Amino acid sequence: MGQTLLRKVWDLHTVRQLPTGQTQLFIGLHLIHEVTTPQAFDALRANGWRVAFPERTFGTVDHIIPTGDRKRPFLDVMAEDMLSALERNCRDFGLRLAALGDDRQGIVHVIGPELGLTQPGMTIACGDSHTSTHGAFGSVAFGIGTSQVRDVLASQCLAIEPLKVRRIRVTGALPRGVYAKDVILTIIQRLGVRGGTGYAYEYAGDVVDRMSMDERMTMCNMSIEGGARVGYVNPDATTVEYVRGRPFAPPAESFDAMSRWWLSMASDADAVYDDEVEIRGNELTPVVTWGVHPGQSIGVDGAVPSPAQSGEDAAATTDALAYMGLTAGQPIAGMKVDVAFIGSCTNSRLSDLREAARIVKGRHVAPHVKALVVPGSASVGRAAEREGIAEIFQAAGFEWRNAGCSMCLGMNPDKLEGNQVCAASSNRNFKGRQGSPTGRTLLMSPAMVAAAAVAGEVTDVRRLM
Ligand code: SF4
Repeated sequence: MGQTLLRKVWDLHTVRQLPTGQTQLFIGLHLIHEVTTPQAFDALRANGWRVAFPERTFGTVDHIIPTGDRKRPFLDVMAEDMLSALERNCRDFGLRLAALGDDRQGIVHVIGPELGLTQPGMTIACGDSHTSTHGAFGSVAFGIGTSQVRDVLASQCLAIEPLKVRRIRVTGALPRGVYAKDVILTIIQRLGVRGGTGYAYEYAGDVVDRMSMDERMTMCNMSIEGGARVGYVNPDATTVEYVRGRPFAPPAESFDAMSRWWLSMASDADAVYDDEVEIRGNELTPVVTWGVHPGQSIGVDGAVPSPAQSGEDAAATTDALAYMGLTAGQPIAGMKVDVAFIGSCTNSRLSDLREAARIVKGRHVAPHVKALVVPGSASVGRAAEREGIAEIFQAAGFEWRNAGCSMCLGMNPDKLEGNQVCAASSNRNFKGRQGSPTGRTLLMSPAMVAAAAVAGEVTDVRRLM
């Protein structure tokens, strides 16, 4: 019987089965950042341990860094302490760090792939939920907590429960104005935010086969929002060509042999899945979240559901509607937005910025909207500046920032105020996620954020195309 990619990668990285029923997996790449590492390094020091495989560890700074003025020390003492601790820890333990001012700095899930650190067939871990992003390359990538970061630093291993595999086939073709973000939001809406519990999601089908690596990363990034432990796409020619020539890619003389092995890790044609789901790409529309988790979403031409229609716990829907200031039956199009945010590890890559720039070119941000674009990495920022994309955004009234997590979460100066409504290309719309306890987040594609910025309200991007 054929095997899935998950099974192949899992078996190759198994150190031993543990009495707990978990598997001890060897981790090929450990990505670290400033937020989930200070206590882990403290534990190493307290126990007199070293980092087991420094050459398999790579650090960057992203969550807490300001995206505007970056003069040190930061005004936020806690942020300054976290960054100083990471710098010290990487120095003391001999680890590579893309520090502030380094050409390679950026959001951890953006720089791993663009530097060629992320490769097919790998196991990857990082102390951030959205590590699932790296599955786009046919790796098995786990978001882990601080105590697991300690374990991986000290042993390069992770104890993890076995997973079932659900294949999600996205068939047909996407209509104009519908993006990878709309596909993954639709999947989460249909299968539920806990629907993936105990599963790895394998994304397949014509639509996924035709996607660029940036689009596949957007899909895999949000697997965790659907409850899946990991998400992945089988490696193919698109994957191989993306990795070729990147700074940490295998050298030219061994690249072809390596890429043959990568392709052999793809799920076999006769692999058996624990579950299969089909999503028809042709039927999808641009999607917007109306509630307080990524599963509470509707098509941009739809109306906000009532507690009885939502298909979830009625009390949860009532609570979400009250928090968002929405009424059941209200069209989501036309909801006024105060802030427009294009960024985050879900949608801050060059292709995202290009697509959003196409919408804003020759237009202007609505007078009441604060709009910002935050490239996912310094490298994306430089490329966008070279292409004239930054100029298009600035001419349209967007603020153009330095790379970082920014308004994806409230750990740096980019925060919502009061109960502002933000059209965001990020991944979480939980209460208070963007830094204000009453701030409201509407998740959507970068092109839809661009459209909302210009219109000053939620609007169907297809009208501006
Ligand atoms: S952009 Fe958001 S989700 Fe991604 S790593 Fe940063 S804080 Fe986490």
